[in-house]
Amino acid sequence: MSFSTDVKDELLALTLVPECCRHAQAYGMLLFGRSFSASSVSFAAENRTVAAEYAHTVQGILGTEPEITDNDGKIALVTVRTAADRRTVLSAFGHTPGELTLRINRANLSNDCCFAAFVRGAFLSCGTVSSPEKNYHMEFIVPFLRLSNDFFAFFQELGFRPKHVMRKGYHVIYFKESETIEDLLTLMGATNSTLRLINVKIGKDVRNHVNRRVNFETANIDRSVHAGSRQVEAIRKIQRTQGLESLREGLREIAELRLENPEASLYELEEMLDGRLSRSGINHRLKRLVEIADQC
Ligand SMILES: [Zn+2]
Repeated sequence: MSFSTDVKDELLALTLVPECCRHAQAYGMLLFGRSFSASSVSFAAENRTVAAEYAHTVQGILGTEPEITDNDGKIALVTVRTAADRRTVLSAFGHTPGELTLRINRANLSNDCCFAAFVRGAFLSCGTVSSPEKNYHMEFIVPFLRLSNDFFAFFQELGFRPKHVMRKGYHVIYFKESETIEDLLTLMGATNSTLRLINVKIGKDVRNHVNRRVNFETANIDRSVHAGSRQVEAIRKIQRTQGLESLREGLREIAELRLENPEASLYELEEMLDGRLSRSGINHRLKRLVEIADQC
């Protein structure tokens, strides 16, 4: 099961106490459904539990359960059939059949507590969140421009910093920062999902840290092996052309030591010399050998 599904299951299992919040969640769900107008009030979802919740919500308003149809057995479609029923649903949230553009009617969010419930309803309808194992991404897909603008501003008022992008003609409001997604999950009441996200994040951070460490050390080894092989080439060249005997004592010792230990790090060479020469001293002589070879 996807993380989104888990989050939605967790949200659906919440018991909403204040009536005002039940109303706000119902509003979020219906407003951000597939359509919410005099000509069509409908909802489409792959998640049957969510579709059932939508149907249940509509039933709470109309007294009768709306029709749920299965599209290819994949998408559950909930439709309010008659014009009279659609008008009843609209007016339950202060909307009228004549509206040209769909906007958020703030009158449905009577108290501060209702903001969270409204976001929860919207998320159930049009929200998804990526599995934190993959990446951090939460989005709300809104079909209408004005509605999307209103929702964007609503998030800003709550202190969030949403982003917006168009995708296949839909307005996508999204969030990328893991902390923001944690805050939104918590706001909606999905605390178990928040904890899961945090746990995954901690695991990732530890792994990243270990990987960085390993990469850093591998790079160091690579560097010293690479430098070592260049030095060995240089020393062989001196050997071929003028002979190692031509070098002064201190240089020859290091040249021979490097030939015998082509992959040793400076630190290891220092140990082999029992500390008679510092690492920088060894390094200096190795560089000198490379310079001499360049002139051979
Ligand atoms: Zn409330």
